[in-house]
Amino acid sequence: MSKKRILLKLTGEIFLDKNGAPTSENVRSVIAQIKKLSDQFQFGIVVGGGNFFRGSQHGTRMGVRSSVGHQIGMLATMMNGLMLKDFIEQDELSAELLCAMPSPEIGKPISQQSIYTSLKKDEILIFTGGTGNPYFTTDTTAILRALQIQADQVWKGTSIDGVYSADPKKDATAKKLETITFKDAIEKQLGIMDLTAYAMAEQHDETIRIFDIFAPDALLHAARDPQFGSTITKGT
Ligand code: UDP
Repeated sequence: MSKKRILLKLTGEIFLDKNGAPTSENVRSVIAQIKKLSDQFQFGIVVGGGNFFRGSQHGTRMGVRSSVGHQIGMLATMMNGLMLKDFIEQDELSAELLCAMPSPEIGKPISQQSIYTSLKKDEILIFTGGTGNPYFTTDTTAILRALQIQADQVWKGTSIDGVYSADPKKDATAKKLETITFKDAIEKQLGIMDLTAYAMAEQHDETIRIFDIFAPDALLHAARDPQFGSTITKGT
């Protein structure tokens, strides 16, 4: 039986505790779950960098020009990728670190060929450096890499347990939606992911699951329960 392929998008916040201090606890738990699922699933991981630097937010605050801010954000994802690879290897799984911003000391440059090689070797693929271009997000990167690995689904592990009909922080009547179409997510401006990511996923019919990565055994639940979190699809 061939393995299901999942592109897992991990927010950089996975490296932080509730008080914003660095911790490896969450990420080690995620890796232990990946290990448990490794008979049935192969994972590609796109890691964010928000724990270190977000291009627009931190770049603006620091007063660097926006393209430079985004480059620093992309470098932040590479630092997270290095940590992720180290923890994965400490858990005796094998991983390849792929960099969109060529850094031979850190990992392999991303190419379709290097992706195929790692997939064939049954490695966990860690995609860093975003798309390599400023003004994109790691969410858009996740869709791009999902297409490149021919992922069955994209799983976005975030700090919210799904997609809501309105912002639950502002609207007490907001309801969690089990499934939603890309069209509705875009029209209703439901956030969670940026419009470029939604548009690209819709165009290529890539299904996205959104769930709380900090919930206990989140990945195991995502694997077993199709109703865990929210699912965004092209619809019929
Ligand atoms: N980024 C970029 N191009 C890309 C991907 C990411 O310029 O293709 C920058 C962007 O500035 C972003 C930062 O890298 O703010 C870190 O990623 P992100 O904010 O998505 O991290 P997360 O919030 O998921 O931790």
